Amino acid sequence: MEIKLPKLPYTHDALEPYISKRTIDFHYGKHHQTYVNKLNELIKGSAFENLSLEEIINKSEGAVFNNAAQVWNHTFYWHSLSPEGGGRPEGDVLAAIESRYCSFEQFKGDFSQAAVTLFGSGWAWLVKKPDGTLDIVQKSNAENPLRDGNIPLLTCDVWEHAYYLDYQNRRPEYIDAFWKIVNWEMVEKRFL
Ligand code: MN
Repeated sequence: MEIKLPKLPYTHDALEPYISKRTIDFHYGKHHQTYVNKLNELIKGSAFENLSLEEIINKSEGAVFNNAAQVWNHTFYWHSLSPEGGGRPEGDVLAAIESRYCSFEQFKGDFSQAAVTLFGSGWAWLVKKPDGTLDIVQKSNAENPLRDGNIPLLTCDVWEHAYYLDYQNRRPEYIDAFWKIVNWEMVEKRFL
């Protein structure tokens, strides 16, 4: 079963001025596509060939895991963003954030800190733990929270390719822009 590059949920210029069309052209059109292509090459004729993407992530190591997780992580990242995003969550998500981090502003600060201080390439995640509480986790390279048994609610890609064309080395400016386009509606749906 060939893994396909999922459709982007908006047009390539929809996240401007926070993330440029040029960045999306490369990040989605080249980087994400390349992970899909490499994964298909790697799993062809192997025991992974007929598994779902999530099953591959749970059962693989090395190059297969890296490419499979990067395919999943990028799809999740695109859905973590929306041209209609930004602001703050409502309802149960806001209540859970306030219960764990005292205030939304404190949560935003903690998540930004995790994203800015992650050394090298990786991802900052907001997750729902099995006990229903929230946590912010840093993951290097392709790693994601699925194998920890946590439910990913939101992610920010802090690989340089996610922001270098728009912000060069200024990762904190990219994180500031990220908050303007966070898709809280998706987070609210996943939290239920
Ligand atoms: Mn990326």
